[in-house]
Amino acid sequence: MTDSAPLAALVVAAGRGTRLGGPVPKQYRRVAGRPVLTHTLEHLIRPALFDRVLVVIHPDDGAAFAEAAALLGRQIASCPGGASRQDSVRLGLEALAATGLPDHAIVLIHDAARPFASEAVLMRAVLAAQRHGAAIPVLPVPDTLAVLDEAGHLAGNPDRNSVRLVQTPQAFRLGPILAAHRCALAEGRTDFTDDAGLAAAYGQAVGSFAGDGALFKITREEDLERAERHLAPQAETRTGLGYDVHAFTEGDHVWLGGVAIPHTRKLLGHSDADPLLHALTDALLGTIGDGDIGQHFPPSDPRWKGAPSRLFLADAARRVAERGGRVVSVDCTVLAEAPKVGPHRAAMQALIGEVLGIPPERVGIKATTSEKLGFVGRSEGIAAMAVATVMFGGG
Ligand code: MG
Repeated sequence: MTDSAPLAALVVAAGRGTRLGGPVPKQYRRVAGRPVLTHTLEHLIRPALFDRVLVVIHPDDGAAFAEAAALLGRQIASCPGGASRQDSVRLGLEALAATGLPDHAIVLIHDAARPFASEAVLMRAVLAAQRHGAAIPVLPVPDTLAVLDEAGHLAGNPDRNSVRLVQTPQAFRLGPILAAHRCALAEGRTDFTDDAGLAAAYGQAVGSFAGDGALFKITREEDLERAERHLAPQAETRTGLGYDVHAFTEGDHVWLGGVAIPHTRKLLGHSDADPLLHALTDALLGTIGDGDIGQHFPPSDPRWKGAPSRLFLADAARRVAERGGRVVSVDCTVLAEAPKVGPHRAAMQALIGEVLGIPPERVGIKATTSEKLGFVGRSEGIAAMAVATVMFGGG
């Protein structure tokens, strides 16, 4: 900030929200479980920008305001509003002046029903006030504008390039905007749709700065739904990795991907020693940072002796689901000289897909030899690698 003027935010929350209907004014309706006003105030106080935050409330809303403010964990000042928005703003400005704020203090006047003022918008408002004295956030009008006659017929098209949508917060110097409001009161003028219009009517130059689509006003039911969507966690994709090895021992079949495959030996392990399902289980656990298979199913636990490894996979899938994850796909590679995986691929895809709740085409099963190199190449054991892709959030 280039000048040291104190900064204040004045939140106008005294309206009845009649367009939304219902017994609760829109600023106290809930979005993501909290009143709209709580969201509005949180956005104002979080950047620690303002020396004062004052909320103008309806005299009947004391309890609702106290509840909304209590959720913020700090004291928020309020004062009673008047019969109209214009009255409420004036009373709020008078209350701010009464706290000793100087005339050159910058005050942002903001609608309680615009809950999502970003720090960037607030900074633009303050800078614009420093530069212009008074300033409004504006958005371009994307659509063609029409003027209709009384019969609803097209009577003309205003040039949309010269008009803007006006939002709040609107920024002013305290002294001049309070003086303008006092003049309007003295003259009985109530024809202003916002504070910038009032300021301009009493001779103040009003600049503009870039508004923000997220500053939308909650007026109708669908705006509450939009606010819910605005706060919904964004979908994110996470990837987990798994790797496992089991050595051969005497036997006549191996477990791979949940399928028993006849072979000249078996794999040694506490459970059924299925390296593919073990790698896949670790890959799933990797997407939620929840340890590994050995932590959840220790080889020292007799309960898991000879256990089918699909139980481990199902447990990892449950843990992922409990954290809100949805498995998108998994991909596995078996490293073995023998047995051949190809003839059993479809059965493995079906079984793993069933455990994970995904169609078989989202289960990749691949196999490679190790070209006679290393422990796999010497047929001392079988290794498996797996990745899991899991989506979280996003409704
Ligand atoms: Mg293992």
